[in-house]
Amino acid sequence: MVTSARAPIAEQHEVSRWDRARAGLLVPIVVVIVVAIVCIIVAVLALAQRADTVEFRREQQLLRQAVADRDARLLREVESVIARPDAATAIGNYDRQWVARNLGALLQPFFGDDVVAVIDGTDKVRYARFAGPRDPAAADLAAELADSVDLLRGRLKAVPGDVISVISIPDLSKPGQRTALIQRFTNQPALVAAVAVGSNVEVAGAKAGAPIVVAVKYIDSNVLRDIGRRLQIPDLRRIDGAPATGDEITAIVGRHGGTIARFAWRPFRPSREIIASVLPFIAVAIAGFALLLGLIMRYMRRTTQTIAAGEIRLRHLALHDPVCGLPNRLYFGERLESVINEVRRGGPSAAVFYIDLDHFKDVNDTLGHHIGDKLILNVTRRLSRVMRGDDLVARLGGDEFAIVTICASDSYSLQAIAGRIIAAVCAPYAIDGNNIIIGASIGIATIDRRARDAADILRYADMALYRAKNEGRNRACIYDAAMDADLSHRKLLEGDLLQAVKNDGLDAAYQPIVNASGDTVVGVEALARWTHPTAGEIPPADFIPIAEHSGIIVELGEWMLRRACLDGAGWPDLTVAVNVSPLQFRRSDFVELVERILAETNFDPNRLELELTESTLLGNLETAELSMLRLKAIGVRFALDDFGTGYSSLLYLRRFPFDKLKIDSSFVRSIEKAADAAAIVHAVVSLGRGLGMKVTAEGVENAEQHLFLRAAGVHSMQGFRFGKPVPAGAISARLASPDDYRVGSPDREIALAS
Ligand code: C2E
Ligand code: MG
Ligand code: MG
Repeated sequence: MVTSARAPIAEQHEVSRWDRARAGLLVPIVVVIVVAIVCIIVAVLALAQRADTVEFRREQQLLRQAVADRDARLLREVESVIARPDAATAIGNYDRQWVARNLGALLQPFFGDDVVAVIDGTDKVRYARFAGPRDPAAADLAAELADSVDLLRGRLKAVPGDVISVISIPDLSKPGQRTALIQRFTNQPALVAAVAVGSNVEVAGAKAGAPIVVAVKYIDSNVLRDIGRRLQIPDLRRIDGAPATGDEITAIVGRHGGTIARFAWRPFRPSREIIASVLPFIAVAIAGFALLLGLIMRYMRRTTQTIAAGEIRLRHLALHDPVCGLPNRLYFGERLESVINEVRRGGPSAAVFYIDLDHFKDVNDTLGHHIGDKLILNVTRRLSRVMRGDDLVARLGGDEFAIVTICASDSYSLQAIAGRIIAAVCAPYAIDGNNIIIGASIGIATIDRRARDAADILRYADMALYRAKNEGRNRACIYDAAMDADLSHRKLLEGDLLQAVKNDGLDAAYQPIVNASGDTVVGVEALARWTHPTAGEIPPADFIPIAEHSGIIVELGEWMLRRACLDGAGWPDLTVAVNVSPLQFRRSDFVELVERILAETNFDPNRLELELTESTLLGNLETAELSMLRLKAIGVRFALDDFGTGYSSLLYLRRFPFDKLKIDSSFVRSIEKAADAAAIVHAVVSLGRGLGMKVTAEGVENAEQHLFLRAAGVHSMQGFRFGKPVPAGAISARLASPDDYRVGSPDREIALAS
């Protein structure tokens, strides 16, 4: 099989187109999935962070509350000590012994306070005891404790801005009973609880304040460890500088913004737990998405592969011939366009060979389509052998092939290629026991840089093909510009011919048909004649093909039949032969037409002879036979015209009820030149006789042919020797005085000539 090495069909393109479509669908899916995953992760992280913040605020709140609670406890401890019945008197009188014994107990080991002091009604420190060595910063103890004392004495309008009171003070303007402050004490954060003992007392005659017992507890590591343990806040400590990384800090700040204490601790971060608990689910979700994506991709890949394969198959079917697998007309057009473009860009010249098989239709009709298909396959193989690998061989239609090839554009090279093609195609084929011979006509159009488009090139090749067929088949013609003129000339003629047929512009000529001795006219053949108003006489060889090609032949044939019947009425002893074209004969109303014309003209059907060629019978054996039988039934006779030029099948002779066989003039002409032609004529004559047919020889021009044919047993003859086609009047004249037209005896003439 011939394929194209440079086929413009890139099937991979189809796949990549699907890949692109797949990518176009996949990308949004992937983007949506990734965005969804990112959103989930961001949401989880935000939630975790929020949880951390809430937890930090909670711990901060708890811590502050715990410090305040510790201060309140300190206050309750002091109150519990001074609640003894003898406490008011002993402290009021500053009983040193009592104070040292009972208030000292506020210190280690019972309550672990750091400082215990008693302040008298005039705010003097009457007693002070420190848990450890006295802090030098506590030199002015009264000043350090001034805030508590002033609050208890009712001297302040508000709680000082750099301390925090952990209990509410109902009325600041009146002397109070108790205070619990968080404040800086000797430059350290401390809890200071102060309780006024009894009511105000007289001191040295003046109304002095009640004595005040004060306990101070530093917010030190012990206090913080204790709070941390209770609140489960690990590593709680006081800091002054920057915290360690990962630690949280909080500050206890006075109303005026002064920092009293800063604490740091290792915070509990619920985010870690949240993330740790959510992470497996996210991982599962991601894995699920990935799996889903994989499944979608696999499904899409399979689907796209199936679709792409289907498309490739469809495209192949759309672009190739189903019988022989060759590229079809569409594919050929594409390739031709690309070759034209290459040539225009400066590539080497190329040519199109338009091949038409002669007699392919005959094979199809007589031997069946399966043999026809096999023949096409054989032709395909042969063409592929003749052409190079990178030539494109295509089947354009039933019996039409075309080749586009890169080749030299001189006529010698082109004819050489065409010669090879014709030789290959015309060699006999042996298919299923049938020996088949077909012919090939080729039209060649060269592609040069001025070439316009594929349609033009194909039209040129088609014109050249038409010329090749007209010039006698099995030959190749190269397109030249004159053919264009020829085509337009033919188009013009076609119009004029139609007018001539419609307006009685044709003539009928009659050629005598004589008996074997040549002395009696036994019949005439009606032949169409056309005298063009300007171009003069146009031979039937020119206008009959135009009429057949355009369909005008149907009306022309009808006109001729009527004319012949009308003219033939004057020659009651002659048979009138009329040519019938295939197109005309195949019409369903042909039989009715003949009957109608016979009736119209009152012509004796027994004197009418219809001449058919083998091609007339092709394709519709059944209907052809039926039509013939119907006409024969009313007396019409049939002659097989031009026998020997067509398929010359015995089948036609046996199957169809022909009355006469007309040996083509080409055989008659070659009698003298080729011995086998003479043998064939002999054979045909005896064949015709054997089948009960009369045999007529056409184109008899000289005495030698006449003698030979008469000897061979031909019944009647036709040719210039006995009379050229002439108008009806001339036939009548000849019949009136037959002696004026008598030809001599061929034996005598030959004897005289020699
Ligand atoms: P045909 O039917 O085979 O007609 C015989 C042709 O041979 C005629 O050519 C005739 O003039 C020519 N001829 C006869 N004797 C001689 C001879 O001795 N030497 C030479 N060289 N030629 C001879 P014509 O009239 O040119 O017609 C050619 C063909 O055109 C006919 O071949 C026939 O096939 C076709 N034709 C003519 N008239 C009609 C028609 O009315 N209808 C149809 N369908 N075809 C027609
Ligand atoms: Mg004829
Ligand atoms: Mg003939």
